[in-house]
This record gives sequence, structure tokens and C-alpha cells, in this order.
Amino acid sequence: EKVLVGNKISEGHENFVMAYNMLTGIRVAVSRCSGVMKKLDDNDFKTTKKLSFSMDGSELTPSSKYDFKFKDYCPEVFRELRTLFGLDPADYLVSITGKYILSELGSPGKSGSFFYYSRDYRFIIKTIHHSEHKQLRRILKDYYEHVKENPNTLISQFYGLHRVKMPFSKNGSRKVHFVVMNNLFPPHRDIHRKYDLKGSTWGRITKIDQKEGKDLSQFTLKDINFLENHEAINFGPNKRKLFFAQLESDVALLKKINVMDYSLLLGVHDVKKGNTFDLAQKLSVFDPKSSNKSILIKTNPRDIDRDNDLPSNVFPGRSKYVFYGHDGGIRATNEDNDPIGEIYYLGIIDCLTNYSTKKRLETFWRSLGHPRSTISALPASEYGDRFLKFIKDGTHVYKKKIS
Ligand code: ATP
Ligand code: CA
Ligand code: CA
Repeated sequence: EKVLVGNKISEGHENFVMAYNMLTGIRVAVSRCSGVMKKLDDNDFKTTKKLSFSMDGSELTPSSKYDFKFKDYCPEVFRELRTLFGLDPADYLVSITGKYILSELGSPGKSGSFFYYSRDYRFIIKTIHHSEHKQLRRILKDYYEHVKENPNTLISQFYGLHRVKMPFSKNGSRKVHFVVMNNLFPPHRDIHRKYDLKGSTWGRITKIDQKEGKDLSQFTLKDINFLENHEAINFGPNKRKLFFAQLESDVALLKKINVMDYSLLLGVHDVKKGNTFDLAQKLSVFDPKSSNKSILIKTNPRDIDRDNDLPSNVFPGRSKYVFYGHDGGIRATNEDNDPIGEIYYLGIIDCLTNYSTKKRLETFWRSLGHPRSTISALPASEYGDRFLKFIKDGTHVYKKKIS
């Protein structure tokens, strides 16, 4: 059993109130959104629902520890999306409002976003910038149509978009927008190497001090590491064809909605190495109800028969979710389409950055001093082409890998 040891975020922690309010808000909003589903119309893409929480409670809200306001964006659209992604409503509520883990592993990223994992490790809450929130609302319809037509889309699965507003000072308030999305990595399988790939080489390296002999899985490696390690996504002809077709369709959407700066997040599980269940990971645990100083989080791994866990021969049209085995992994295959010793967990993340004025400026000044192919801020169309090329070039039939 994989055991994660963590430090609890208790009252007094700077993000306790925010996390408490986010979870309380989601619980109430999502459980209220449970009537009969009807066909979505244009209004559903504009609807917002506001809830006001206070210590006294109200007709619509139970009493809460703190005063705050919660805003739910396009609840019917996200409910429909959750259905399209195959989530069970009751399951979602239980997972999402249980205990949370505040990530200390490599994030928050440069953007300042915070990441919270649900206790069962299936969902991630990410706080987002106001501009990303506006972007998601702007593209929601396109995104929704895309998901309907592409059940195997590799783009982040968004399950909800919300906002909490907390009193900040006498006159002011603090607004935090956040999304709920899928965790690409499985709770019960070790990820031995992890890459965040943009298709750019500009500063895209994670430096690792070899002398320290550190375990690679602790790092998020980048494009230059991928090239230097002679890493590859090993797919034989069948999976390669499906993978490329899906990537092309996804990138076409990302170009259309004018975003850039996204990555292919790739986690590699080495079947030979298997799992080290005694691996203790340091995580901060958020538990709104408990007051223990520290807490042991046990994930709930299923009993896995590694050989039978994932479909080894996957053909188009056979299943709605062609790419995915039971836990979202895709088995590597050789030229004969037979399974080989790696399982990939991958998806396109961080895809809410609009090619804004700021990025246009960055392109301008960087392009003065650097070749265009090495800089990271590009118009959406060029960004998409470069991204696609890098991933395709990195997808081979089996070749010798690093150990
Ligand atoms: P920046 O804008 O500086 O890149 P960010 O705050 O927008 O950072 P992301 O790029 O979204 O953050 O994610 C940062 C890291 O968090 C990723 O490299 C990855 O390791 C992890 N991560 C993000 N989203 C997911 C996900 N859906 N599943 C698993 N891990 C994720
Ligand atoms: Ca990113
Ligand atoms: Ca970002």
C-alpha cells in the first residue's frame, strides 16, 4: 500500500480559510445541481449562480465557519462535461469534498497557482488567474463541443469553474478563481520519470545534480532533458496513428481558441521497476475537520495484476475510450503493436493562456536576440505547429532507452 505522509494544514495556515471555503462552496453548489438533465442551450454557457455563506447559515446554505461568497460558473455545462468524462455524480462529490492534500511537490508553478489533490488523488483543484478564468468562459462552448466529438481528447478535463470571495479588509475583498480537473497520474502506480514538454528548447531544462544521485521521479523534466535522455514515446503503428490523430485534433482546437504555453505532461511508469509502496512522499494534508498535527494519508490501491491491468491490443472503434486502460494509462507497444515495458500517463495541461498583448511583447523583444524556434512565446498557430512537431518527433517505434 502506498502511504503518503503529510503535514496537515490547520487553522492558522495561510491557505486554510481559502481551502475551507473552496471545498464548502463546491459541496453545496454541486449537490444543489442535481435535478433532471435537460439539453443545454446558449443561456447555460452564461449562467452563474451565487451563494452566500455565513456563520448563521441561510435558506440556501448551511452555516459555515467563515463568511464568504461563492460563485459557480455554468453549472449545467460542467455537469454535462462530468457526465461526458464518465464521472459518477455521487462519486465526484465524495472525492472532491473529502480531505485535501496541498501540494508541495514542485508547484506552485511560476504562475503562483496553488494545487490541491483530492484525498483519493483523482482530482486536482488549481487556482487560476483572472485572465485564465475569462479565457475558459470564452472558450467553454468550443471546448464542450470538442469534448463531445472527441471522447479521447488529451486536453485537461475541466469539471468545474468557481470563485470564492472573502472579506479582506474593511472595504476590500479577495477573489480567487479555481478549476477542478483530472489528475493525470494514478494513485497506485509509481511514475518513474515525468516530463513537461512544450516543444521549445528556450530554457526548457531541469538541472539535476548527478552527484546527489537523486531519484528522477522527484523532478519534472523538460524538453532538453527529453532530448538528452534519448527519451521516446514508444507506440507501434496502431497506437501511433490514434495518438497523432487525437493530438492533431486537440491542437487544432487550441489554435482556434488562440491559446499557447500549454504542455504535454508525460509520466512514465516502468513496468519492470514496478511500485515501491514504501515510498513515503512528503505532502501537506488539508483536512477541514481534523485538528491533528500530522496525518497519514492512505490511498486505496486496487489489487493489480500488472499483465491484465491494461488492454494490450487496442483498436479504433472498440471502446469509447480507446486510449485508456483502467487507470488512464496507455501501454507502450513495439512495431508489431505488442505491449512493451512502459505505461504512459499523458495529457495536455495549462491550456488557458491566451496569446495576449503581454505575450506579443515578449515575442517581439525575444525575437530580437534569439532564433524564433527557441523562444517560448509564439502566436497560437506557430506554437501549436512547433508543439505538434516536437511530440511527433519524440514518438518512435521502440528504441533503446535510458535505464
Ligand atoms: P506555469 O504557468 O509556470 O507553467 P502553472 O502554475 O500554470 O505554471 P501548470 O503548468 O498547470 O502550473 O502545472 C505545473 C505542474 O503541476 C506540471 O508540470 C505538473 O507537474 C503538475 N500538474 C499540473 N496539472 C496536472 C494534472 N492535471 N495532473 C498531474 N499533474 C499536473
Ligand atoms: Ca505550465
Ligand atoms: Ca500557466
